[in-house]
Amino acid sequence: MSEYETHVKPLYDRDGNLHGVLLSPEIWAKAGKKISEILDQAQGKTDSEIHQEPIEDWNMFKDYWDFKYPFNPKVTCKACGAETENWEEDNPRIFHLSNASLSGLLVFHCEKCGGTVRKKHFKDHICFEATTHTGESCEPECIYPE
Ligand SMILES: [Zn+2]
Repeated sequence: MSEYETHVKPLYDRDGNLHGVLLSPEIWAKAGKKISEILDQAQGKTDSEIHQEPIEDWNMFKDYWDFKYPFNPKVTCKACGAETENWEEDNPRIFHLSNASLSGLLVFHCEKCGGTVRKKHFKDHICFEATTHTGESCEPECIYPE
């Protein structure tokens, strides 16, 4: 039996029709997360549903906007340089939203490098901060909108 056959077993019913595929606990532990994502995509779920982004919190953040400058959907990762001009329109996502708080903090996971991006909103400026997937902090970048 090959390595593959010990982990991935097709199951047939008595008529010889494929009934399903059984995965070993070992391979599921290694690849289950990725496989679940692929299965979710195959079922037509959106990227946002698969990653269970807190979209309601994001919308609330926008609805209660009271900063001096207009809302700006740009996200940039200081760890690897990944960037989007409009986070809401990305498909597939470059960044996954993990937290949105009315205090002005948006937290994203960077798909490109695995880092964490924090977009902090202050009264008159925005700061992007990032930590790499190994936990190192990057130089923050602050923007002062007009
Ligand atoms: Zn990145």
